[in-house]
Amino acid sequence: MTIAIRKPSLGSAATAFLAKPHKLLIDGKWVDAKSGETFPVEDPATEEVIAHVPAGDKADVDAAVAAARRAFESGPWSRILPGDRSRLVWRLGDLLEQHADEFAELEALDNGKPVTNARRDDVQGSINMFRYMAGWSTRLTGETIPVSSPGNWHVYTLREPVGVVGQIIPWNFPLMMAAWKLAPALAAGCTIVLKPAEQTPLTALRFGELIQEAGFPDGVVNIITGYGETAGAALANHPDVDKVAFTGSTEVGKLIVKAAAGNLKRVSLELGGKSPAIVFPDADIDRAISGTASAIFYNQGQCCTAGSRLFAHKSVYDRVVEGVSAEAGKIKIGHGLDPNVNLGPLVSKEQHNRVRGFLESGRKEGAEVVTGGNVPGNQGYFVEPTVLANTNRDMRVVREEIFGPVVCVQSFDDDDLEAVAKFANDTEYGLQASVWTRNLKVAHMMARKIRAGTICINNHNYGDPAWPFGGYKQSGWGREMGKEVMEHYTETKAIAALH
Ligand code: ADP
Repeated sequence: MTIAIRKPSLGSAATAFLAKPHKLLIDGKWVDAKSGETFPVEDPATEEVIAHVPAGDKADVDAAVAAARRAFESGPWSRILPGDRSRLVWRLGDLLEQHADEFAELEALDNGKPVTNARRDDVQGSINMFRYMAGWSTRLTGETIPVSSPGNWHVYTLREPVGVVGQIIPWNFPLMMAAWKLAPALAAGCTIVLKPAEQTPLTALRFGELIQEAGFPDGVVNIITGYGETAGAALANHPDVDKVAFTGSTEVGKLIVKAAAGNLKRVSLELGGKSPAIVFPDADIDRAISGTASAIFYNQGQCCTAGSRLFAHKSVYDRVVEGVSAEAGKIKIGHGLDPNVNLGPLVSKEQHNRVRGFLESGRKEGAEVVTGGNVPGNQGYFVEPTVLANTNRDMRVVREEIFGPVVCVQSFDDDDLEAVAKFANDTEYGLQASVWTRNLKVAHMMARKIRAGTICINNHNYGDPAWPFGGYKQSGWGREMGKEVMEHYTETKAIAALH
C-alpha cells in the first residue's frame, strides 16, 4: 500500500468557484441564510477549511418551500409542455458535460474521492441520469380502462406531478445523488427543495448555477445548505411539502418517516446496507477476487451497496482471502485530486472515528486482521483498506454497516443453496448482493432466494439510469431510477365519465 498525501493544485474553474461567496438558491436568487450563519467545509485529506456555506434553517426552508409552491401552481413551469421540460432536463446533462472536469475536481476535493473515479462515475453517471430521465417527460401516459359498470362509461387515468418535493441527500456521492433526485422529479414536472449533506455541499451549489443557466423558471429548484437536524428536519416536517425523497442512514430514514407523518407526505427512502458477495467454488476466482475487492474498497467503502460481507466457499476461502488482501496492497492511498490515487480519505472526522471504532471492535471480537487495520499518516481521515478474516455472524463488524474500506470474510461449506441464501439474508438490510459463479442455475437460483433489491452476477456496485435501484427490509422504501422512479414523483388520477 503506498501513501502519497500531497495536495495537487486545482484547475482554474474550480478555484474560481471556491473563491466566490456561497449562498442559498431560493426563488431564482442567491441569498444568505436569514440568520446570517455559515459553516465551514473541509478538505478531508488535509483537514483544511476550503469554503464557508450558509447554515440554512427552518426560516430558509419556509421561503424555499413557498417559492417551490408558487412555481408549481402558478409560474410558467405549471404550464410547460412535456417536450420543453424534457429539453431543459436534457440541457442539464449537456451543461454538466461541458463542466465535467471542474465538477470532478470539486467532488474530489470536497468528498475526498479519487478524481478519476469522480469524473468517470459520479459526473458521467449524473450526465447519463439527466439524459435518460429527460425521455420520461414525454412518456408519462395514463391508461384507458375497460370497466364493467353498466352504462356508457369513459374511464381513464392521468399521471400528474406529485407537487413540491423535499430531497435530502448524503455525502458519499454528492453530485450523483443530487442527479438521481433532481432528474426524475424535474422530468415529472415537480418543483424541488434540495438539501445536500453538510459535509459536501459544493457540487450541489455549483450545479444550482447550471440550473439557472439551463433556463429553469425561478423557484423550480431551490437549494438549501444546512445541517440535518435543522434544515433537513424542517423539510421533512414541512406541512406544505408533498413528498420527501431521502438517501442516507437507516437511523435518519426512520426519523424522516416520523417527521413526514404530520401531513402524510409521500416518502421514499434509500438507506443502509450490509451487502453479501458470495464466491462459489466454480467461479472465475481471479475475477471474483478483483471484483469483490473493488466491491468494498471502491469509494473508500462509503457505498450503501458495498460488498462488506464476503462469503467464500471453504475450497476457495484461502485463495480469496489472500487475493483480496493482495488487491488491497496494490491500492495507492492519497489526496483524491492526485490522478494516480485509488483510495482517498473518509469524508469526515466523525466517519473516521466511527470506522476506527469498528476496527477496534473487530479485533476485540477475535477477527483476524489479514491486511490493513491502521490509519496512515498524521493528517486527513485516511484508513487502510482492511481485510478481516475468520469473522462470524455475531460480530458487530459483520452485523452493522461500517461505511469504510473494511471487508469481513467468512467461509461456507454448504452446497445447499437454501442454506447459503439463509446466511446471505441474515441481516436487517436488503440492498444488494453479488453472486460469483459460472453456473447459471446457481446464479439465478441465488438471485431469487436473496432478499435484496438488486442482485449482481459476477459484478458488484452496478448502476445504470435504467436499472431500478432500492432496498428490501430496512434498506428502504421504493425504487430510484428506471421507470419505477417515476412512481415516486407522480400521482395517478382516475377519471370516470358517464356519457
Ligand atoms: P450519515 O449518518 O451517513 O452522515 P445521514 O443519514 O446522517 O448520513 O445524512 C444524510 C442526510 O440526511 C444529510 O443531508 C443530513 O444532513 C440529513 N439529515 C440528518 N439528520 C436529519 C434529520 N433529523 N432530519 C432530516 N435530515 C437529516
